[in-house]
Parts: sequence; structure tokens; C-alpha cells
Amino acid sequence: MRVIDNYVNGRWVASKSTELLDVVNPATTEVMARVPLSTPEEVETAIQAAKDAFSEWRETPPVTRARYLFRLRDLMEDEFEDLARIIVQEAGKCIDEARGEVRRAIENVEVAAGIPSLMMGYGAEDIAVGIDEECVRQAMGVFCCIPPFNFPLMVSLWFAPYAIACGNTYIVKPSEQVPLSQNRLFELIDQTDLPEGVINLVNGAKVVVDTLLESPDVRGVSFVGSTAVARYIYSKGAANGKRVQAQAGAKNFLVVMPDADLDRTVPALLTSFYGCAGERCLSGAVLLPVGDVYEPLRDKFVHAASRLKVGYGLDESVQMGPVISKKHMERVLGYIEKGLDEGAKLLLDGRGIQVDECPNGYFIGPTVFGEVTPQMAIANEEIFGPVASIIKTQDLDEAIEIIHANPYGNASSIFTTSGKCAREFKYRVRCGNIGINVGIVAPMAFFPFSGTKDSFFGDLHGQGRDAVDFFTEKKVVISRWF
Ligand code: NAD
Repeated sequence: MRVIDNYVNGRWVASKSTELLDVVNPATTEVMARVPLSTPEEVETAIQAAKDAFSEWRETPPVTRARYLFRLRDLMEDEFEDLARIIVQEAGKCIDEARGEVRRAIENVEVAAGIPSLMMGYGAEDIAVGIDEECVRQAMGVFCCIPPFNFPLMVSLWFAPYAIACGNTYIVKPSEQVPLSQNRLFELIDQTDLPEGVINLVNGAKVVVDTLLESPDVRGVSFVGSTAVARYIYSKGAANGKRVQAQAGAKNFLVVMPDADLDRTVPALLTSFYGCAGERCLSGAVLLPVGDVYEPLRDKFVHAASRLKVGYGLDESVQMGPVISKKHMERVLGYIEKGLDEGAKLLLDGRGIQVDECPNGYFIGPTVFGEVTPQMAIANEEIFGPVASIIKTQDLDEAIEIIHANPYGNASSIFTTSGKCAREFKYRVRCGNIGINVGIVAPMAFFPFSGTKDSFFGDLHGQGRDAVDFFTEKKVVISRWF
């Protein structure tokens, strides 16, 4: 069985760890490879390599640094379909969803390649007579990222291209559930001839993360994952003097007003609730119909959800794949049981769905609960699976009250034909990403991406200019010549 290697100091190296985990295709349950849980010593070696590479890389002109990213971009375009297939195989997405992930990953590389202008400082002459002042951005040293399972290729690229474009050096620790996309990405990175040690890959889990967080040589960490782990990373990283940005869990609410165009709204809702089998931090979780739209919306939504084709994502006609693992499937099924125990009405039951070509896969069909109340666990907690909860509301005020009572603040959408309602919604709702007649509010690579409340710990977000701010220190120089 293939064992995934680490990539340190420009070379592929086998981990000496005896602890290995299976990498499982969640549709077929085939074990595709084994991933090592690297040791603290192996992490230290990667940190040292990144540290050693820093001073020369920092001095490399930004235009030259950007050229490596252009090369990576071209290689990713050449291998576009291969990257998408790997995402399907290890994460269970549908092929078009995987293509979307590759596209956004490439877009981040493209935006980071604009570093010569993104990194530009500013200055002023004669802030007092004969005295000039300028502000420059400088690279800081070694950074790292700790991504989740649900976007195996893209998430590291919300950060890494910006970090290295700014002149820092980098370490990626992929999710141990889905290490293959990063492995393939690093094969492409290897072909760019980036100087040794500028970017490194260390596979593993908590031990790797803790070693990175405890190292005095790591200046900052970008985390994306569940809220419990985000809190841990944020507090431990900050206690160790690091910059931390920790993007966390979500529970996203979608409001539908009585004036909404249902024929256009329902397809957008389906993508939001059931795209990526509900395993997106931007997935819809709770549907909030306002007033009279409740019944027609409920009926159309349940009917449309029941027709989605579930299966193995390499089949182009499949619309929803499996969830990531047996353990996660059991967790999602547990929430369906909980919803029933709490008295919600199961309008569409996705349990026990059969996918003939993949009889053992971790499939749950689209599931819809009606008669949900805001206090129920299914209305409040992150399920991260294809389960929709519908809560009937009287008016927009009540809908916004329900949204604000929830601890998360990642994304929220409204479907309406009224500009006034839309404006009120975007003005009042406290969350990081607002959709108006848009069900998945995924910011383009040159916009900042993250949430508020329990969905984010830190200050500067991922992607675009925020990333450049995160990965640089500003220095002010005031000069007078006698
Ligand atoms: P997770 O928190 O279990 O794991 C994320 C990463 O943290 C992995 O690399 C894992 O190895 C590491 N990790 C796990 N436990 C750890 C511990 N105790 N100490 C140190 N490191 C640890 O998350 P997941 O299940 O992989 O991903 C799903 C979660 O990610 C969901 O909650 C989802 O909402 C969230 N997510 C958020 C965003 C966002 O932008 N806010 C984007 C994608 C996913």
C-alpha cells in the first residue's frame, strides 16, 4: 500500500513514524493510501528548513517570487482534471464541485501573483519641513496552515500563495483524512523549482499541530476547521506569541420572503443545502420561510430535494456524493435521530439510501425536517451533512432574531424581490458573508473570507489583501537628512 511522503527542503522524504492512518474513498470505501502521523522531530526538521530558506527568499524581488506562482498556476491548469478527480476520490464530492474547488484554488494563486502591487507601501514627503515618512511591508518568517477535510486542495491556497509571495516561508499540514490532493499539489510545486525549504508539507494530526504551535520559530498560523479546535489553536497560538487566524464552524440560515421568485430560489437552495453533501462551511442548514411562503416553499423544496441523484461523484450525472467517513455518517445520522426525539417532523428521510454501484459507501440522502423550533439541537448545532431544518417565521424581524440567537456567524442569505428587505437584511444581520438571492456566499479570491462570532477567531481573514496584511509586518520609516 502506498504511504504518503512529506515534502521538506525541496525533497520527498518518507516519515519514520510507525503510526499510519488509512486514506479511504468515502464512496467506494477502498483504502487508497496510508498517511503517516509525523513525529515532532520531523516537524522540527521542516521548521528548520523553512527558517533556513527565509533570508534568501525574503530578499528575492517580489516580481521573481510571483513568477513561481505563475508557473504553479500553469501546472495546475494542465493538471486541472487530475486534481478534480483526486478531490472526488478522497473527499466524496461530485466532479463539478471538485472542478469548482480547483478553479477557486487557481484563482487564489493568480491573485497572490499580483504581489508586486499588493505589497506596495506608501509614503509622504514633508510631514514636517524636510522630513519624509514611508510605510513598507516586510516578510516575517515561517508561517503554517492547518486545513480541514472538506476542501482538500483549496484551503491551503487561501493562505500559502500569499505567504510565500510576501517573502515568508511555509509549512502545510493537510487534513489527515484527505492528504492526497495536497500531495499532488506539492508534486506540481516541486516542478516550479521554488528554492528549497520555501514551502514544505508535513503530514499528521494533533502532534504536528502542537509542535508547530509551540515552536518559537513559527510566526503565525492559519487554521480552518471546527469551532472547538479553532478555539484551541487561537488560544494556544496567541499564548505562544503567534499571529493566528482561525476560521471555524458554521450554522447558516436562509430566509425566503413571500415575494421571492420560487422557481429561481429553490434550485439555489438545493445547491446550498445539498452541494458537497452539506459539508461546506457555507452550506445552508436552516430554512426560514417568512409568512405565506411557508407551504408552497416547503412542498417545492422537498419535492426537488427528493429528486437529487446521489452516488459516486466521478459519474457526471450524480448531484450529491457521500459524507466523508463512517464516523461522520454516524454523527449525522445521530442528529436525524435527535431531531425525531425532539419532535421535529421528517419530511424527507435520507437514511438507508442505496447506491447500487457503491453499496458500502457513506451515503445519506437529502433529508428535510419540518416543524422545527429554534431551541432544537438540529436548529442550533452544526451537523455538516445533508440535513435541512425548516422553521416557519412570521416576519423578517423574527427571522433575524433567530439568526442572531445562534452562536455562529459565517453566512446568511435572503431570497426576495424587494430591495428594501434585502437592504435591511444585509444591514442588520451579523455574519461574515451575506447572500442576496445567492445560496452559497463564497467570496472571490480577491475578497476577504471568514465569519464572525463562533465562526472566526482572529482579526485578518484569508485571501486577498487581508492575507497580505496577515503575512507582513508594517514598518514606518521617518527620515531627515542634515
Ligand atoms: P477539524 O477541526 O476536526 O480538523 C481541522 C484540522 O485540525 C485538521 O487538519 C486536523 O488534523 C486538525 N485537528 C483536529 N483536532 C485537533 C486537535 N485536537 N488539536 C490540533 N489539531 C487538530 O475539522 P474538520 O472536521 O476537518 O472540518 C470540518 C469543520 O471545518 C466544520 O466545522 C466546518 O464548518 C469547518 N470549516 C470552516 C470553514 C471556514 O471558512 N469557516 C471552511 C471549511 C470548513
